[in-house]
Amino acid sequence: MSNNLATIVHTFTNRSSLSLARGSLFKFVALLAAVFVLASLSLIYLAHDLDRTEEIESAFYTKKAMQSLEKSMRSTVKDYAFWGDAYKHLHAEVDTDWAYVRQNIGSTLYADFGMQGVFVVNDVNRTVYSVIKGELKPVEVADWLDQSIVGILDKARTGAETETPITAFINVKGNPVLVAAAAITPGTDPTVVPDDRPPSVLVFVDMLNSTKLELIGNEFGVSRLHVATPDEKDAISLLPLGDNGAAGTLHWSSSQPGLRLLGIGLPLIGVAALLVWLMTWAILRRTTAGALALDASYASLQSSQDALAISEARFRDVVEASSDWVWEIDSDWRLTFLSERFEVVTGLSRDAWVGALIDDLLGTELGTLSQWLSIPNRRPDISVQCRYIDTQDRERITRLSAREMTQGGFRGTATDVTEEVESRRRIEFLSQHDALTGLPNRTRLQEFLDGKLKALPTVEQPLIMLSLDLDRFKPVNDLLGHAAGDLVLNEVSSRLAACVRDGDLVARIGGDEFVLILTDVNSQDEVEALCHRLIESIERPIAIDEQEVFVSASIGIAMAPTDAFEAAELLRYADIALYEAKSAGRNTWRFYAGDMNARIIERRRLESDLRFAIKHGELRLHFQPRYRIADGQMVGAEALVRWQHPERGLIPPDTFIPIAEESGLILSLSDWVLNTACRCAAQWPEKLFVSVNLSPIEFKRGNLIGRIQKALHDSGIDPTRVELEITESVMLDDAAGALELMQTLKRLGVRICMDDFGTGYSSLSYLRAFPFDGLKIDRSFLSRLVESDDDKAIVQAIVGLGRALSLTVTAEGIETGQHLQLLKAVACDEGQGYFLSRPLDIDAFDALLDATESAGTRSNV
Ligand code: C2E
Ligand code: CA
Ligand code: CA
Repeated sequence: MSNNLATIVHTFTNRSSLSLARGSLFKFVALLAAVFVLASLSLIYLAHDLDRTEEIESAFYTKKAMQSLEKSMRSTVKDYAFWGDAYKHLHAEVDTDWAYVRQNIGSTLYADFGMQGVFVVNDVNRTVYSVIKGELKPVEVADWLDQSIVGILDKARTGAETETPITAFINVKGNPVLVAAAAITPGTDPTVVPDDRPPSVLVFVDMLNSTKLELIGNEFGVSRLHVATPDEKDAISLLPLGDNGAAGTLHWSSSQPGLRLLGIGLPLIGVAALLVWLMTWAILRRTTAGALALDASYASLQSSQDALAISEARFRDVVEASSDWVWEIDSDWRLTFLSERFEVVTGLSRDAWVGALIDDLLGTELGTLSQWLSIPNRRPDISVQCRYIDTQDRERITRLSAREMTQGGFRGTATDVTEEVESRRRIEFLSQHDALTGLPNRTRLQEFLDGKLKALPTVEQPLIMLSLDLDRFKPVNDLLGHAAGDLVLNEVSSRLAACVRDGDLVARIGGDEFVLILTDVNSQDEVEALCHRLIESIERPIAIDEQEVFVSASIGIAMAPTDAFEAAELLRYADIALYEAKSAGRNTWRFYAGDMNARIIERRRLESDLRFAIKHGELRLHFQPRYRIADGQMVGAEALVRWQHPERGLIPPDTFIPIAEESGLILSLSDWVLNTACRCAAQWPEKLFVSVNLSPIEFKRGNLIGRIQKALHDSGIDPTRVELEITESVMLDDAAGALELMQTLKRLGVRICMDDFGTGYSSLSYLRAFPFDGLKIDRSFLSRLVESDDDKAIVQAIVGLGRALSLTVTAEGIETGQHLQLLKAVACDEGQGYFLSRPLDIDAFDALLDATESAGTRSNV
């Protein structure tokens, strides 16, 4: 422009003709005016473009924010709803103790996830469990939300089969509210048998109040996100929630960078135009005054040249005031210009870089920048993300926009987006990792697995999935508190991670459940060696405060392509194998085998058969007499249950008691045993007692005291003639609770005896601290008694201990006369075993009683 001016001024001063001068001046002014108009128009266009991009971006991020909220709600509700334990404790029956007191689905949902409402709605749409802001409050979900959500509940139920949760935005008193719902299903828990009722639904409610919205917005770089007020309803930055915005419309403040640019740029152009206009006016006046005014005109033009210099300086200021830097390259890709901002933003030297190749400065993810710039018909409004290394050797990220220049080469701006990209990366990381341990979560596992399966593993190079579950973790949490539990999980996580290679994945998918994906292990031996290492490393003691905590792990293994090709199938098979590993006594591993599925189905069938059996009188009670060893007198009998199966014949209790325990059928089974045993024994001679086995489950669940009271009352038997046999695990699980229960039982008048002594921890402190009347030495001791002197010494010691604590000591499993002699020698109190009598059915036992009555004593003792 200044070149132009110089020529004109030159012409102007050299020709003395006034008309010529005027003509040239008019041309010049017209040219200048055109330049100003063009500058204003491009500024307006640029500003508009900037605002539109900003608008689209902020709308995109707002939408993303809401979607991410929905996604995280869905995955949270899914984790809780598709869960065998939840099915057992919130659908099959409603166990507030499990859900709220033990915090399985309790106040932590509010504290950790901000879930203001947590509800369980049963099969007939009644709310049966509700936690409001972390507190247990009985309230119908429809009352609390001021509307019926039957539609949402029905949709959630249709998603039960595919384990798909749903979310919906609704409007509660003018506020948008996010509701997530999922049908409660047994998940992958093979031990839970679903019933025929429609599933209950777990509902999570998140009220999006103004602080919460603002926070969510900030996380995604959207400022002042709020519910649009009526006079904002026509604004541009709007996002409707729910069907046609039924749940409310969100509004946010757009920063409108273009408007700001116009605010600075337009006045500047205006001022420049005014100056030029004034100048022209002055010149015109002078030229009409005569050719003499030429000198003066020249001076005036001189001043307009200064004005232009000033306005150029102003433009430069605008460029430098923005946070972006401006660049220009020639057709050889060499930098010909870098604005001053370049140094401030990048810390690099302009002098060093002007003249250098732009590819040496910036690189894109897809290739060199020159390649990107050379893309034919590249849309000029699309920017590219580039990286460079700053003076501190850190990688920075910048968004580059470029326009081709007519004379060849490109120019454009560069915006630093390092922080923005990093915060987005952080959000992504958080959504894919477990907050406690930092391990990948279920979402990441799914992605990783999908990717690995797409690569089509082969039999030679299989994909191996380990499903790993900690044994003995729950007591750590219960006894030492959640903080200790967290420490254990963290320690276990890092030990697991240390056992696998770099390309493998260790994910935490639930409380104490982990999944490992390995691709570089080729033989079964290698897998076994790894499992061995994993278990060994987990078993090493974990120091917590002054204590050492011990946990162990069980592992189930499934492989692709041998067992399955699909992620969900693999997970299920690994879980089935895990379940087998646990059944095999924990602390071990199992490979998935096709027939495991069949075995589990078989087990389920047995379970439903058992349900039927209890109701339809297929259970039988046998009695095994117990004798005083010193004089051979019968003192009582142990009630032992059997199952007369219509097809399989008489099934021993070891086969079905564990199934009853796992399915919860144990309570009704045990009720039948208790009642039958008490009723029968009430008919026996007064001096005989009956002893009944209790399952540890009965100590934790069900109203044990009430049930026993009822059996005693209904049969009319003297409580002192009833003995309850319990095992050590009752005290291991919850010592304080067990003590209280046992004391109450003692007040009812019944006797309590420790069964299977010598198989568990055999802690003497239990015998001392708990109100036992007797102990039964496990039959495994007797079976080894003749060969091993050690066992002989142990039996003798147990008898001595029993005496010291005034307990009646009973030996189980007396199979030979030799056994009996030995027990007599160590003065054991009572005994029971095949040698004395097998367990007898009711008729045989009655016959034995009759015979004993008439004979007085038994002859073979
Ligand atoms: P347990 O309480 O240790 O019961 C004693 C078991 O040893 C019985 O097996 C009995 O038949 C067996 N037995 C008795 N004398 C001898 C002997 O001389 N040699 C050998 N080898 N075994 C002998 P059973 O009836 O099969 O019961 C197995 C387990 O099932 C019981 O072990 C008990 O834990 C459980 N059980 C049985 N009935 C019930 C019940 O009504 N409720 C609960 N919760 N558990 C029960
Ligand atoms: Ca027993
Ligand atoms: Ca026993």
